[in-house]
Amino acid sequence: MSDSSNSGGQGKDGEGEARRLRPCPVCAKMSTPADHPFCSDRCAKVDLNRWLSGGYGIPVVEFDDLSEGDDQS
Ligand SMILES: [Zn+2]
Repeated sequence: MSDSSNSGGQGKDGEGEARRLRPCPVCAKMSTPADHPFCSDRCAKVDLNRWLSGGYGIPVVEFDDLSEGDDQS
């Protein structure tokens, strides 16, 4: 009886790459390992642009609507 102990060395490497891929947050297409988590470089830029325009870069001038009490007739 030479039943060596069970070497449960499974699931360390192999499948997983494909499962890690998620739909592109921009166009909902399948993302690629190269441009993860986007499907392409284009979508990556689109998302970056969105992020930038949402944070910095664009001077917000919404206050112009609030401070309309100072009217000059
Ligand atoms: Zn995409």
